[in-house]
Amino acid sequence: MTGDPGHVTVIGSGIVGVSCALFLQREGHSVTIVDPAPAGSGASFGNAGAVARGAVTPTSTPGLWKDVPGMLLDPLGPLQIRWAYLPRILPWLIRFLRAGRPARVEEISRSLLSLLTIVDEAYDELLKGAGLQDMLIPNGWLKVYESEHSFRAASFERDLMERRGVPFDVLDAAALRQLEPTLSKRFKYGVYQTQSRFAVDPGGMVKGLARDFEQRGGTLLPEKVTGIRLTGRTGRTLVTDAGERELDRLVIAAGAWSRPLVRQLGEEVPLDTERGYHLSLTAEDQPPLRHPTFVGDHRFVLSPTRSGLRLTSGVEFAGLHARPDYSRVERLLPIAQEVLPGLKPEITSRWLGFRPSTPDSLPVISRSPKHPWAYYAFGHGHLGITLGPATGYCISRMISGADQAVDMRPFGIERFRR
Ligand SMILES: Cc1cc2nc3c(=O)[nH]c(=O)nc-3n(C[C@H](O)[C@H](O)[C@H](O)COP(=O)(O)OP(=O)(O)OC[C@H]3O[C@@H](n4cnc5c(N)ncnc54)[C@H](O)[C@@H]3O)c2cc1C
Repeated sequence: MTGDPGHVTVIGSGIVGVSCALFLQREGHSVTIVDPAPAGSGASFGNAGAVARGAVTPTSTPGLWKDVPGMLLDPLGPLQIRWAYLPRILPWLIRFLRAGRPARVEEISRSLLSLLTIVDEAYDELLKGAGLQDMLIPNGWLKVYESEHSFRAASFERDLMERRGVPFDVLDAAALRQLEPTLSKRFKYGVYQTQSRFAVDPGGMVKGLARDFEQRGGTLLPEKVTGIRLTGRTGRTLVTDAGERELDRLVIAAGAWSRPLVRQLGEEVPLDTERGYHLSLTAEDQPPLRHPTFVGDHRFVLSPTRSGLRLTSGVEFAGLHARPDYSRVERLLPIAQEVLPGLKPEITSRWLGFRPSTPDSLPVISRSPKHPWAYYAFGHGHLGITLGPATGYCISRMISGADQAVDMRPFGIERFRR
């Protein structure tokens, strides 16, 4: 089943699906992407755009549970839960907190690092091939802190980066002002990850990559997958809202919507969604922010995207179907005005997106244990823009039976059986 070039169907046209498709083409496979929505219009559209090369820290860290009640009670905090969703998310949350044990965090961090080391090469290959090199700019990833308390609270992350050998600079107020002169003078500390890059238009970048995929002979099928029918020992058919399709090999890369598709194959995965919002602010006459900037005291990000300044929020647990509640992210706007004096609070659009999240912050990049023709590429949580092309590279190597640059075992779906 692995080895020979053949036909591969990829479900999902986000950064992950499109990257899988492009690398599979390079390995000689003929590829069809199935997605009813335009390429790059899911979570891959509205994110903060950081290709965070130093992101070796999982979301669940030791002692986080102590901070959760305070975060939930703070109307400006980075975490919100719709209480009606609590029974549904509870098993995921328990696994999430367990993934924050010190020894497990070290393991996860090492696994993240192994994928992060191939991020640049994978991105450069795809962007160069599509003539889209200007979509990523090498301006780093900046975190700023107003209070000593919040700077100290982030020391776990800095220690972990040091242990993993991730380069970063710690900045004092003067150095921070030199690097990002438009920021308020109240910020006293900064952490600057120099290796990171910034996607100035993440949705446009994925759209451009999908165009390149089509130009190389790939097919984009605007249909929704409603089922995968299994017959006999090896028979399989893809069922979509437009009919039935023959299936050779399959990659499920449907982001936060992947779980029911995996279930069709008789397997289970603890995938849920960490919802996140953004506000897009007018591009006109805004202070010229140079870097995507994480505001540590309030845990939101300001990103200078091509279409204007983008304010992205923290996490909301409410599943895939609850109506958006933009009030939370709107409440951050006055704070953003203090962070960036002169900021015009003119909102041009609001957006809700669905991070596809596993409890251990590691994506699933895996062959199906039950069906040797099926592969999984989802669950990138906060890091899909960072890890999408690297994932596509690994999946294409897996399907072609080629050597991997990365140990794939930590990303296997089997890990959740333990
Ligand atoms: C507010 C916010 C900020 C973020 N900031 C960053 C950041 O700075 N850096 C970073 O690395 N990551 C960031 N992320 C995370 C990142 O955006 C995601 O991890 C990534 O976009 C996931 O990509 P994906 O391709 O897996 O999913 P998606 O982009 O969501 O694509 C999934 C696709 O599958 C399709 N699909 C679903 N069901 C079906 C079906 N049944 N049939 C066919 N197609 C289907 C959907 O239509 C969709 O197009 C952020 C996310 C959010 C929400």
